[in-house]
Amino acid sequence: MRVFVAVDIEGVAGVVHSQEGAPGNPEYERARRLMTAEASAVVAGIFDADPNADVTVADVHGPYRNIIPEELDERARLSRGKPRMYGMMHGIDRDYDLAMFAGVHGRAGSGSSVLSHTFTGTILDVRIEGKSYGELGLNAAMAGAYDVPVVLVAGDQTVVEEARETLGETVTTVQLKESVAHLSSESVHPILARKLLREAAAEAASNPPAVPPLRLATPVTFEVELARPALADLVEMIDGSERLDGRTVRFTRSTFPDAYRVLRLVTVLCSTPL
Ligand SMILES: [Zn+2]
Repeated sequence: MRVFVAVDIEGVAGVVHSQEGAPGNPEYERARRLMTAEASAVVAGIFDADPNADVTVADVHGPYRNIIPEELDERARLSRGKPRMYGMMHGIDRDYDLAMFAGVHGRAGSGSSVLSHTFTGTILDVRIEGKSYGELGLNAAMAGAYDVPVVLVAGDQTVVEEARETLGETVTTVQLKESVAHLSSESVHPILARKLLREAAAEAASNPPAVPPLRLATPVTFEVELARPALADLVEMIDGSERLDGRTVRFTRSTFPDAYRVLRLVTVLCSTPL
């Protein structure tokens, strides 16, 4: 069994502040260890279910260089470093059987969800056919484009709700904290978090829940609402994009991965100092 495990940091048990996700801060050094341990717990669970599993862990936060390679469960391969063309989901293809997402945060604008955002603080919303998608949904649709179902999602209560709404009630969810505000949560202990993740990953890998791959209709049109008109000025330069209003740009691509790749570029452009 091949499993793609994408691990972010904001949804990790105990993490509540952007400094914990920003290299250079003392608190970041601890948070990246918590993140690494949660990644290892998921890996261990998969191997509990299938000793012959083949597991890729993708480090998908910030610089994509957070997980400490030598501290990760040695049975997994680690995908790290950026830029990569398909960002958080680079490497996913039809050869994977399952995908699992740990450390997940809510989409941009989620109320009581620690550090909620969609790729960057300068993207206010991403809509497809009028429905808002965060990283969870967009990444699940990337997996779905290759017929890979996302069977496990871990994070706070908002993430659990978003996973069920996007992927269906059957998806395995692991709630590790209850966000009470954007920068505040009540969390289980990290050791308990790892136990819960390992058990859930083992169960999801040995007896995968009946979650269909998230296949969005193609051609697909993304409507991206930026924080400021100057950012929309930049994004409008992308070939085939169309300005809808002061801060909203739309683009259509024939496949979901092609559209997702454009969104990667939008994210880079939105990091441009103006
Ligand atoms: Zn992140």
